[in-house]
Amino acid sequence: MDLDKHDFELDKLIESIKSNDNRLIALQVPEGLKMQALSMMDSIEDETSAQVVLAADPCYGACDLVHDKMRMMGVELVAHMGHSQMNIDSGMPTHFINVTYDGDPELSPVLPILEKHRAMAQVRLEQQDGSLSEKEAQDRFLDAVGRVAPLKGNKLGLVGSIQHLHLIFEFKERLEKAGFEVEVPVGGDRLTFPGQVLGCNYSGDNDTIGHYLFLGSGDFHPIGLVMHTGKPLALLDPYTGDSSEMSLERIERILRQRFGLIMAVQDAQTFAILIGEKPGQMRRTLALRMKKLLAKHGKKGYLLALEHISPDLISFYPVDAYVNTACPRIAIDDSVRYDKPLITPFELEVSLGEKKWETGYQFDEIP
Ligand code: SF4
Repeated sequence: MDLDKHDFELDKLIESIKSNDNRLIALQVPEGLKMQALSMMDSIEDETSAQVVLAADPCYGACDLVHDKMRMMGVELVAHMGHSQMNIDSGMPTHFINVTYDGDPELSPVLPILEKHRAMAQVRLEQQDGSLSEKEAQDRFLDAVGRVAPLKGNKLGLVGSIQHLHLIFEFKERLEKAGFEVEVPVGGDRLTFPGQVLGCNYSGDNDTIGHYLFLGSGDFHPIGLVMHTGKPLALLDPYTGDSSEMSLERIERILRQRFGLIMAVQDAQTFAILIGEKPGQMRRTLALRMKKLLAKHGKKGYLLALEHISPDLISFYPVDAYVNTACPRIAIDDSVRYDKPLITPFELEVSLGEKKWETGYQFDEIP
């Protein structure tokens, strides 16, 4: 990782610690920055009179803020790095540091991909939906694109991960000059910035957007975006300058796996319903609704609350399957690690016949 091109905004944090005269602060950093955490702690302790505790548990998002337990330790301020504030209250004063990356990738290599995707969106716009047989409905469920609500436009949606969002309006202009009609989607309360996406929230999507460009690296956000929207996605990585597209075969493989899990739980009688204890993952009402739904179908749901969800913490319970209401990506990305089917609430509803195949796959979003 090229650290010189990242802005960790330590000067702003140090200013804030000094002005509040904090004596004990907690530093919470994402997994990718843990190696740099000790040198950041040194800088903060050298420049201020505060002591720093590293919140060393795994942290994958702002859903996972250090909360009240640190207050018991006497921590006065939490410095949370790499994610932006979402619509939750951790109960602790929290200073968010976005960590931006100073990259400026070339646009030209991605333009042919965007042109191809715009043509795909145009074809979809012109298609008419008729009523579907059960087999056609199941085929639609397995189709990576063209499976969600009908389109009203073929605009390019421009999105990115937090480190690159400062580039977004500059790139919008460049793309418009290249002939694209561009929208930077604005999502709901879980998102802080225009164009922002999370692994569990793509709420800025709308039916005038026909395809997407993602500024960022890795496939975590891209997989979720295509599963959620059913729209073609081009990728431009500001770290490497590489351009590519999200493989639709890859998404279809995931959808086939989800289909298989839905079929596998049809005869299951007992379910563990997992509730995440992290502040931004806790969906108690949804978990209770799933329990009620199971009861309606003569099945049993047991509510299990956990801070971290992993196979070794749940595999010994004598249930037939798991329904996950914590971070949606645990079911999507990790289900192969579990010895029994691990499904999302939507998938449970399909297996019980409460939701229909022809609505297409519905990504489990936390609003
Ligand atoms: S719930 Fe999961 S996907 Fe959403 S922000 Fe948290 S870790 Fe990321």
